[in-house]
Amino acid sequence: MFRSKAARLFIDRGTVRCPARAADVEVDVCLTCQWLVEIDEDGPTPFVRCQPVSVLPSGATKRGRQES
Ligand code: SF4
Repeated sequence: MFRSKAARLFIDRGTVRCPARAADVEVDVCLTCQWLVEIDEDGPTPFVRCQPVSVLPSGATKRGRQES
């Protein structure tokens, strides 16, 4: 059973694009991040899965009303 719909963020040269910070961050930052769900640095396609509270599972953000 899936407990989280957090998307995979692929690690590129030791960094990932952080959805919470809207910037590239070192994977070491993820290791201590409260939103980290899973990390795989040794597989064929290293990735981080996380679910920042500011990002909904659909990918929308909680910034108030959506623009139309
Ligand atoms: S685990 Fe934390 S620091 Fe790493 S990408 Fe996700 S929100 Fe950003």
